[in-house]
Amino acid sequence: MKLMYINGEFTKGMSQGEIEVSNPATEEVLDTVPRGTAEDIESAVRSGNEAYKSWRKMGANERANLLHEVASKIKSHQKAIVHLLTLEEGKPISENEEEVEWVASTFDYYAELGRHDRGRVIPPGESSQFNFILKEPYGVVGCIVPWNYPLMLLAWKVAPALAAGNTVVIKPSEVTPLTALYLAEHCFDGLPAGVVNVVTGFGMETGEPLVRHADVPVIAFTGSLATGQRIASHAAPMMKKLHLELGGKDATVIAEDADPEIAAKAVAYAALLNAGQVCTSTERVYIPQTKAKQFTEAIVEHVKSLRLGPGLEETTDIGPMVGDTYREKIESHVADARTRGANVLTGGQRPKGFDKGWYYEPTVLAGVDHTMLIMREETFGPAVPLMEYTSFEQAVELVNDTKYGLGAVLLSEDPKKIKTFFEEVKAGTIWINDPLTDNYAGPFGGMKYSGGARELGIEGLDTFRETKHVHWDFNMEDKDYWYPYHR
Ligand code: NAD
Repeated sequence: MKLMYINGEFTKGMSQGEIEVSNPATEEVLDTVPRGTAEDIESAVRSGNEAYKSWRKMGANERANLLHEVASKIKSHQKAIVHLLTLEEGKPISENEEEVEWVASTFDYYAELGRHDRGRVIPPGESSQFNFILKEPYGVVGCIVPWNYPLMLLAWKVAPALAAGNTVVIKPSEVTPLTALYLAEHCFDGLPAGVVNVVTGFGMETGEPLVRHADVPVIAFTGSLATGQRIASHAAPMMKKLHLELGGKDATVIAEDADPEIAAKAVAYAALLNAGQVCTSTERVYIPQTKAKQFTEAIVEHVKSLRLGPGLEETTDIGPMVGDTYREKIESHVADARTRGANVLTGGQRPKGFDKGWYYEPTVLAGVDHTMLIMREETFGPAVPLMEYTSFEQAVELVNDTKYGLGAVLLSEDPKKIKTFFEEVKAGTIWINDPLTDNYAGPFGGMKYSGGARELGIEGLDTFRETKHVHWDFNMEDKDYWYPYHR
């Protein structure tokens, strides 16, 4: 069993039993972690608060150096982390290499951003006065992380939170807690005790007590809409700062001018990366009616060429899904689409020849419409539903016809279409011709039901800083605008 990390020590804490962590490619149990409790959250928050007293006051250079040290330890342990991540999450090793590179770079990036500024000075109303804005840490930040990018989404919260002077209690997903504990043991060990704490457990038993804890002023959460809504209902009355990164139903629009072969590759990557289990996965594809045949054939041909297999095999393009319940969801969406008249052009079933593992064939569907679950609800699996449009304006309306607003993709080199797209589409990230590529300095997050949080960039640091305005008059003297009004 791997242990939780509280106040710089590995412990079973007050856990009640264990949680098994499985390999999605083999269904074998990899290891176990403690099934944490509210008491463990209590200890972790206490240790975070104690550590906060000195961490918030630490000199900017010293703190930056400690965060760079975390980054360099991640780089030196990269091979082992990638291996463990592939075992517990399932996606191909090359995708995990990229994730771990991102994690290290996020710590390097925020190490520097954290010492760049602490606010600003503004012009005073009178010459005897001095006005400035302080950006201050909040205290202990609760970081609740999902399983699909267990380390990257942890780093996008933890690195800026620490750089801003907060301490953290991390609640990793019960599906993928091993890599977070590995980081605690090998990469966070140089930080003062209590600055980073990791409590493993189920959402209701550890996540919820963290959300409801009176001494945790910020909750940074990435996960499903339903969990986000529940968290908001607890945290809002406590006036907590809520940072919610929720689900999506992203669309890709292929414009008439796009090359079919290139569009097919872009769409497959956008829809099937991490077996479609990316919050910004393309889950709806709109193709022009005039060229529907060419685009459809190119997409089907390319998707058929992709290799399904265990993440650890170099030849694998698409790994297993992370668990059986997630596979059942895509199965129900495909079944619903079929019932309502959609055609499955390739895939649509569990692959033959795999006795074990939560695999599902990459699936292309045509003849879909917005009455179907697969075009309305988050599928979070390897599906590529194709819907025809008759005009570009109609395509943009279809893209916006969702409660979510995380990202959107356009494949085109037509400047008028591009401008219309980025101006009219209601989504936090717009990708033109290069889907799903992030940028450290580019804020990432959603609109509408995808939650309004932003990670990365200066916005990602400001999430973890409170604004304080200091108004300072050098002279303590009677002011003519004080009482009495009739002097
Ligand atoms: P989830 O909501 O089931 O769980 C996320 C985390 O919340 C886990 O650690 C879980 O234990 C915890 N949790 C569950 N119930 C809780 C509660 N009542 N109180 C506090 N914590 C609780 O999501 P998941 O299945 O792990 O992840 C997939 C979802 O995450 C998808 O909907 C996906 O779109 C979303 N996601 C969003 C982004 C983004 O940046 N917007 C990125 C990745 C994933």
